[in-house]
Amino acid sequence: MTKGFKIAIDGPAAAGKSTIAKITAKKLGYTYIDTGAMYRALTHKALESNIDINDEAALEVLLQNTEIMLTPLGNEGQSVIVDDKDVTESIRSQQVTAAVSAVSAHQAVRELMVKKQRILGEATGVVMDGRDIGTHVLPNAELKIFMTASVEERAQRRYDENRTRGIDSSLESLKREISERDRADSERLVSPLKQAEDAILIDTTSMSIEEVAGKISRLAEERTRR
Ligand code: C5P
Repeated sequence: MTKGFKIAIDGPAAAGKSTIAKITAKKLGYTYIDTGAMYRALTHKALESNIDINDEAALEVLLQNTEIMLTPLGNEGQSVIVDDKDVTESIRSQQVTAAVSAVSAHQAVRELMVKKQRILGEATGVVMDGRDIGTHVLPNAELKIFMTASVEERAQRRYDENRTRGIDSSLESLKREISERDRADSERLVSPLKQAEDAILIDTTSMSIEEVAGKISRLAEERTRR
């Protein structure tokens, strides 16, 4: 493992970032950090505590008093622990998904989250995925990827994933939810979803998971040799 090597993977919702980030981290022996899970964790706690997702000051105080821990979980990625409670599954609920873009749009929330993410990204080789990793959180990352796919393909993948987890969903509503989240994440004023100038664009619409993971690992290996 190359100490301190950083890989940033950004892109729109349901583009397969976390699947690929997990595989890449495992292959290279790096730490995987899912920054979306951190915003989801705060959103989950806000909903549980009846805090208005548009109240920036209240969310800032809530985050200051919240401990979010991402702990590696064998092949399954990581578990998300909030104040000693395991919320790995519940942060993926529809209620959290529908509210997370509003929570993550607040400047005060982002500033605190980015501080936490930079600390997590310091120690060792990391693969971090999100929306603003290459542009803002880790601007000096050695490898930046912007991963995308057509909205139809992304909705279909999420639909298939839900089915294997025993969750019934509608393709049309998934497409709407994904498009709406992309719009909100791209149009927000503070570090919106955007491809970094030095990021490599990978359109995964017609690629398999193995092909994408292979491509990123080759790019990472090339760069560690430089
Ligand atoms: O990656 P995931 O889809 O789980 O992210 C959930 C939400 O968290 C995104 O739609 C976005 O609003 C927010 N997010 C963000 N910045 C990041 C990661 C996620 O704003 N770096």
